[in-house]
Amino acid sequence: ATPMSIMTATGRGAQAGVLIKEAAALERFASVDTLIVDKTGTLTEGKPRLTDVVAAEGIDENELLRLAASLEKGSEHPLAEAIAEGAARRGLKLADATDFEAVTGKGVSGTVSGRKVALGNVAMMADLGVETSAANAEAMQSEGKTAMFVAVDGRFAGIVAVADPVKATTADAIKALHDKGLRIIMATGDNERTAKAIAGRLGIDDIRAGLLPDGKSALVKELRGKGAVVAMAGDGVNDAPALASADVGIAMGTGADVAVESAGITLVKGDLNGIARARTLAQATLRNIR
Ligand code: ADP
Ligand code: MG
Repeated sequence: ATPMSIMTATGRGAQAGVLIKEAAALERFASVDTLIVDKTGTLTEGKPRLTDVVAAEGIDENELLRLAASLEKGSEHPLAEAIAEGAARRGLKLADATDFEAVTGKGVSGTVSGRKVALGNVAMMADLGVETSAANAEAMQSEGKTAMFVAVDGRFAGIVAVADPVKATTADAIKALHDKGLRIIMATGDNERTAKAIAGRLGIDDIRAGLLPDGKSALVKELRGKGAVVAMAGDGVNDAPALASADVGIAMGTGADVAVESAGITLVKGDLNGIARARTLAQATLRNIR
């Protein structure tokens, strides 16, 4: 494209909250056929709220939540914040955890009030040898909630679940992007049932769930290897490698700095409609050189 047409497109983008860092990213965007989107903080608001506390036999519901929230004091994960807020709403007094350990993409563990506590997904429980067959998370997950398993002293002790609302702008944006002929794939560290519930509501074409941080960039590389031209949209530290591996990386301006640094395009307000706008600008820019 001519420098003039790129400048025009960049200026128009900026007015609409779409910051184009590299002109090359804009040009490449015209030929993108596949868009990978992160779930938490990209499709959803990224502000989960505690919705359910289900205690197993032998433990009180508030005690379960108190142990979980005390442990999560050591974590900066959005899920940890939701649990802390839920405990505060119930007026629970938290203890300090010792031996705190966070396992990326799985959960946290430590000692609270003399008890060994662990909190996380099925993979976390499996690593610890905790039996979760008595847990009943399916119904919550089918509603799009994220259920976290709690183990106390090596035994399943209950579930805490959170819901993270889909952004008000997401549904329209997905529709506009479909109309522009893009195939849309959700990539998430969350479990498959939760991911499916949310993807289903939005009409997303495909999902990859239970991904560890490396999994998102591996997915980008896999699809590119098959000949797809891939844009990746994400907000988190764990999205940065995938943003950098994509033909076009798109960061939420509301997300982590490292995501913005790894991306060629930034959506200032984290509004996904900006992706459709960027696509239109990219196509208009290319038309100007022909
Ligand atoms: P995402 O942000 O896409 O959900 P993560 O890789 O951060 O992906 O987490 C994957 C899963 O691991 C979460 O859905 C949750 O079940 C579990 N997990 C990770 N960190 C924590 C934590 N601090 N507390 C509880 N569960 C966690
Ligand atoms: Mg995210």
